[in-house]
Amino acid sequence: MKRRTFIKSGIMLGAASSAIPNISFARNSDKIKPVVISSGNGQRATAKAMEMINNGSDALDAVIAGVNIIEDDPEDNSVGLGGLPNEDGIVELDACCMHGPTHNAGAVASLRNIKNPSKVARLVMERTDHVLIVGDGALRFAKAHGFKEEELLTDHSRKIWLKWKENLNKDDDWFSPSDENSADIESTTGTISCCAVDLAGNISGVTTTSGLSFKIPGRVGDSPIIGAGLYVDNEVGACGTTGRGEENLKNLSCLLAVEFMRMGDSPEEACLKVCKRIVRNAKIKSLLKENGKPNFNVTFYAVNKSGAYGCASIYGPKKFALHDSQKNQVLDSAYLFNKMK
Ligand code: ASP
Repeated sequence: MKRRTFIKSGIMLGAASSAIPNISFARNSDKIKPVVISSGNGQRATAKAMEMINNGSDALDAVIAGVNIIEDDPEDNSVGLGGLPNEDGIVELDACCMHGPTHNAGAVASLRNIKNPSKVARLVMERTDHVLIVGDGALRFAKAHGFKEEELLTDHSRKIWLKWKENLNKDDDWFSPSDENSADIESTTGTISCCAVDLAGNISGVTTTSGLSFKIPGRVGDSPIIGAGLYVDNEVGACGTTGRGEENLKNLSCLLAVEFMRMGDSPEEACLKVCKRIVRNAKIKSLLKENGKPNFNVTFYAVNKSGAYGCASIYGPKKFALHDSQKNQVLDSAYLFNKMK
């Protein structure tokens, strides 16, 4: 279809319906088990998303509203406002979303000064012919849609970065911090991923992050890459991930998890199999401890079409948030290696 024809038909569609076409598969609503799964920092996201799903929302609306709570929270140093910055002290955010019923996706990477990259990713999906927009282009796109720029580095995240910076090299001109004024250097990874099955049996997901802290400016991880940081197939299920993005990029881990589910694995089995694949493929020295095991972790959060869920990590147990429409809980993941040993 020529682009102009496509735009025209898009306008007609827009006039007739809301931004998301109401495509759903005929299902026996008695059998549909809505479910929302998220990373361990996502219990407020799963609560919000399930509340919206119970009120009839599409899973995509629900998961994005859920993760927006964490993106807006200056206390969560892994995403959005207050996310840990790159090595220059600048916060760069990555996010993607995928809508099962339309099999459509949108993403942004290295987005600065906008605290809700998940919302911008959704607009890339709904308002452009593209899937991924990065850097300055992503910022300009967000501003075109009315997003306001703001400083995303909080005092707390600045102090964590400064301590890292001052401790980098004992021979440079930055003195190591005197401890009363510096923050602890917290973990260098963190993200929120959230996937859901709604009352119509439709599946969507979102992953949003400030990425690896103190990264090389411009570094993009797995979180905004469809197939690596998130994948949804409305006929099968969805999987999102947190942890070392580079290994998810090299293994297209979330796509793999959904394909394992397609072949009959439960969500937990699929997540464990992806962990095993990543371990098997981690061959280079810089990824391995002396005992030959990986020196990084990844965690997968998956749901399938019938509302079953599973979570697994290489080292665990890791916490994950799960709302099964009865209870909103934080549970322990399955894992390959006990993190305590
Ligand atoms: N996966 C994210 C990234 O590599 C970080 C994380 O989840 O901790 O950017």
